[in-house]
Amino acid sequence: MDDDPLSPGLYIVATPIGNLGDLSPRAADVLRRADLIAAEDSRVTAKLLRHIGAKTPMTPYHDHNGERVRPELIARMKGHAVALVTDAGTPLVSDPGYKLVRDARAAGHAITTLPGPCAAIAALTLAGLPSDRFLFAGFLPAKASARDSAIAELASIRATLILYESGPRLGATLAALAGRLGAREAAVAREISKAFEQCVTGSLADLAARYAETPPKGEIVILVGPPGEADAPATEDVETMLREALARLGPSQAASEVSKITGQPKRDLYARALKLQEDDG
Ligand code: SAM
Repeated sequence: MDDDPLSPGLYIVATPIGNLGDLSPRAADVLRRADLIAAEDSRVTAKLLRHIGAKTPMTPYHDHNGERVRPELIARMKGHAVALVTDAGTPLVSDPGYKLVRDARAAGHAITTLPGPCAAIAALTLAGLPSDRFLFAGFLPAKASARDSAIAELASIRATLILYESGPRLGATLAALAGRLGAREAAVAREISKAFEQCVTGSLADLAARYAETPPKGEIVILVGPPGEADAPATEDVETMLREALARLGPSQAASEVSKITGQPKRDLYARALKLQEDDG
């Protein structure tokens, strides 16, 4: 750490998700020495800068102005150090940033990442669910039908699922997950690294019941354990569903319907539907 200017380019800086003590010394150093900080919300980042005694100029960079300001930021990186931060955690993870990195890369600028807090990874370390394979799916869609389709797509994935959610929608999301994914182990991690950090574990149905009436406050990560062998529908059951659907629909539509129910890939089900038609025909 010194007072020399940073070399020009883009610096991706992870910031705390609650506890300011989680800002790394290297991140603080880059935020102090950068020529400009592109911040999702400058009021939020101003608090962080006060905490480390930095007076670095900021410019807003978020989903609503990104298209307009990105070319200016890319131009600035030619001779200056531009740091990117979001309100909390790691930029680009359910947060703005990937297009800035893409364009900085295309322009040939140096890109440096300063790793640090990320709610998804922190929640994974709290939950006690299998962590060898996990899939981060961000926020599910708000509308029930789009949310159910998204859950159906995730159903057959053999990995722990990690989702971001807000308190008011938690109960409905857990109920939808329980309805589609069955009796899986799950966890709700809340307010990580803050005073009221909590991680509640149980089956999806238990958690759905617990949060049905009383939406919790604060920021939330949902984790769902991978499907057990017992959760996968038996081959005969899938064939019964396909036969029943084939009585009403063509093979492509039948495969699509059963894929939505079971979460199995449509392409596999289509092949099985054609085979069933051949065998039965
Ligand atoms: N980029 C951030 C990261 O690295 O985690 C995530 C940004 S996303 C817009 C915000 C969501 O992250 C919140 O709605 C919540 O689901 C989750 N989150 C952020 N801070 C959290 C915390 N302290 N505890 C639990 N979840 C948190």
